[in-house]
Amino acid sequence: MLPGQSKYVIIGAGIHGLSTAYHLAMELQARKLGDGSDVIVIDKGKLGSGASGIACGVIRNNYYQPAMRELMAHSVEVWDSDPETYAYNPVGYMQVSHEGMHEDVNSIYEQQKNINYASEFIEGAKASDAFMKAMFDDWQAKNITSVLHEKKGGYAHNQLSLEGLAKKASALGVTILTDTKVLGFQYQNGTSSAIQAIETSLGKIKCDYVVVGVGPWIRDIWQMLDLPEKISIKIADNEYHHDVNMWAFWQLQEGVLSIDPTLFRQNNGQLPPVIHVDSDAPLDSVIDGQSITNENWGIYYKPDIHFDGIQGGAMPYAVETPTADVAIDPYGPASPEFISSPGFALMWCSALAHCHKRFEGQLAAYDETPSGGIGCFTPDCFPVIDVFRENCHIIADSNHGYKMIGVGKLIAQEILGQKSELLKPFQFDRYLKGNLHPISNSPFPWS
Ligand SMILES: Cc1cc2nc3c(=O)[nH]c(=O)nc-3n(C[C@H](O)[C@H](O)[C@H](O)COP(=O)(O)OP(=O)(O)OC[C@H]3O[C@@H](n4cnc5c(N)ncnc54)[C@H](O)[C@@H]3O)c2cc1C
Repeated sequence: MLPGQSKYVIIGAGIHGLSTAYHLAMELQARKLGDGSDVIVIDKGKLGSGASGIACGVIRNNYYQPAMRELMAHSVEVWDSDPETYAYNPVGYMQVSHEGMHEDVNSIYEQQKNINYASEFIEGAKASDAFMKAMFDDWQAKNITSVLHEKKGGYAHNQLSLEGLAKKASALGVTILTDTKVLGFQYQNGTSSAIQAIETSLGKIKCDYVVVGVGPWIRDIWQMLDLPEKISIKIADNEYHHDVNMWAFWQLQEGVLSIDPTLFRQNNGQLPPVIHVDSDAPLDSVIDGQSITNENWGIYYKPDIHFDGIQGGAMPYAVETPTADVAIDPYGPASPEFISSPGFALMWCSALAHCHKRFEGQLAAYDETPSGGIGCFTPDCFPVIDVFRENCHIIADSNHGYKMIGVGKLIAQEILGQKSELLKPFQFDRYLKGNLHPISNSPFPWS
């Protein structure tokens, strides 16, 4: 049942909402300011009905943008703090790249050293090939000239990690209310524009503070909060892009090759790190050798017992439907419109075979069950994490976010007055001030 009042209301039971709830309950208790009974999480669906419940679960530090890297290093510490409850596999992560990305990845490696994030960088075509073959004797990818091997990170099992977080939050007294949809907000009158109450499908709930972690549904909550659909971005002194759409949707393409996941192990029998390959080598079809692309392409993959096969994805593509018209529901694989495209299976399986001989001739094992889902991206494709309307923290992660389990911890601390330097580069006013993040040469909008 919906209470009439709660001090803290968190909208969304995905990774950010649940992590914030758990950490807020802990912080309140530790500071003797209250406890989990002051916190309620409401979700229009169930635990993990959003992007967190279908995420591939990859956790990495590999970002060209220093602020992203520092934030991710903090999140990896949170994953590392309780791998069992978070269903986290700390197998590491590898960025395998063509020459066009060499310099970018080198700078990532150099800066990882500065923040003590353990990684190894292999440079040159011969050395990269030898390094990969020492790990996988069937390695055969072409045009690879660098490998960044992050010793930390890896992947977690999406639904299990959410259940783990929910269990921890509930144990501290947090209420998680599912099947409760937020429909609107009521604001203070007069000089304050703070939120006073939330209108939901089960009635009204008064609150002191709101946290929004609604993944791709941010388009709708943003509108309910009367925030701007179009913004201005400073690109140089006295130079602006005006009327830029605040939100855009991209389709994430992922799938599963239904083969025994134990067929993908290192030569020494150990679980492999999550592998991400970005290549400029021509990619040909495993069916007939016809060219799939001569442009840069990228894939990622891992053996995954929960997906029962080799799970991974490729570059996303922009959804062309105007943002306001995109049907977010039904979400994910249930969507009739937004699932991995028919061409994805051939591209991804051909790329897997380009990288490893063991994946040749396996296209027929591709699992045709619909997969993938959409993400809602900001204008620069990096998160907006900030306070709006005086008492509302929004975590709009621009689809970077399953790995960002630590953001909820930082938000909990901010709510209680401890400002985070790690979150500062993600403030909304960076657009107007021109404090933008650097852009990499990756074919992915999130690297
Ligand atoms: C196919 C795919 C693969 C991905 N893979 C990775 C990956 O490997 N690694 C990674 O780091 N990130 C990945 N991501 C991105 C990541 O999943 C998201 O950035 C992250 O999960 C967003 O978390 P969230 O808590 O903000 O939102 P979500 O997990 O989307 O949860 C939002 C919740 O809000 C609820 N909600 C929405 N509107 C309302 C409302 N009006 N009232 C009440 N409740 C509401 C929804 O029901 C939902 O449960 C992937 C995304 C997709 C789509």
